[in-house]
Amino acid sequence: MRVYYADHFVLPLPEGHRFPMRKYRMLRDAVAERLDGVELLEAQRADDAMLLLAHDAQYVAQVSLGQLDAARQREIGFPWSEAMVERSRRSAGATVQACRAALHDGIAANLAGGTHHAYADKGGGFCVFNDAAIAARVMQRDGCVQRAAIIDLDVHQGNGTASILSGDPTVFTLSLHGEKNYPFRKEASDLDVGLPDGCGDDDYLGALQAALDAMLGRFSPDLAIYLAGADPHEGDRLGRLKLTLPGLARRDDAVFGTLARHRIPVAVAMAGGYGNRIEDTVAVHLQTIARASAWQRRWLDRHATPTP
Ligand SMILES: [Zn+2]
Repeated sequence: MRVYYADHFVLPLPEGHRFPMRKYRMLRDAVAERLDGVELLEAQRADDAMLLLAHDAQYVAQVSLGQLDAARQREIGFPWSEAMVERSRRSAGATVQACRAALHDGIAANLAGGTHHAYADKGGGFCVFNDAAIAARVMQRDGCVQRAAIIDLDVHQGNGTASILSGDPTVFTLSLHGEKNYPFRKEASDLDVGLPDGCGDDDYLGALQAALDAMLGRFSPDLAIYLAGADPHEGDRLGRLKLTLPGLARRDDAVFGTLARHRIPVAVAMAGGYGNRIEDTVAVHLQTIARASAWQRRWLDRHATPTP
């Protein structure tokens, strides 16, 4: 399975900043050490033409040149630097590449991305460019797909994604998130499922399967982009849900299994994860890559039944 990384484009942060930058390098090291059959590839940069498929020209220019006003920069949550721009472009490019690879191989992944709080004209919540919206539109522009689905299982609502793609009948947005969690003013996705604080494995998995079935009853995507946030985990500082590590494996299997039954290729992005222990967050992300890789091997074996 092809897996794209950009963690070596380091975004300089002040001492004590609460964004867990370290997790990306830890995740790549864990994938390299512990998973067989995964090919790690450096992410390419998303160019302006790609970014402009989902973002306003003025916003792209202001981010690129460091000309956002202070309030807009604060909303992103990172100080501006050229490295911030480069990393954001690489992270979006990685999801584009993962989509291309998925269309060829069934499943591929970006070890970053899932920056779903970025709107057409502003960033937010550690998100600069909206990789999933960009990648879906690049695949359409290049004639690779007509219809794409974005399955957002980060615990926070995909507000930027919903906003960018509202009124676009060719991209379906599904968000399963904590109803009481950030962002407190939510946008309307094509399908939103708000979960109560403290939601555990069985309730979550029931809601997820119902949502996947409802989406596929209404929409037939040629490609899915899966935001596999680690923040529904019970050890997350910001998540407010109570999913266990085995519960999150069942979550990943529900997504990969449902898509496999419908022969829909899927690109996976990592999205959020803010564990009290960073090792727990990395374990959730690593498990997603391991499950993706297991399902991808099945995909390549056309005679296999879709169960790893
Ligand atoms: Zn999140």
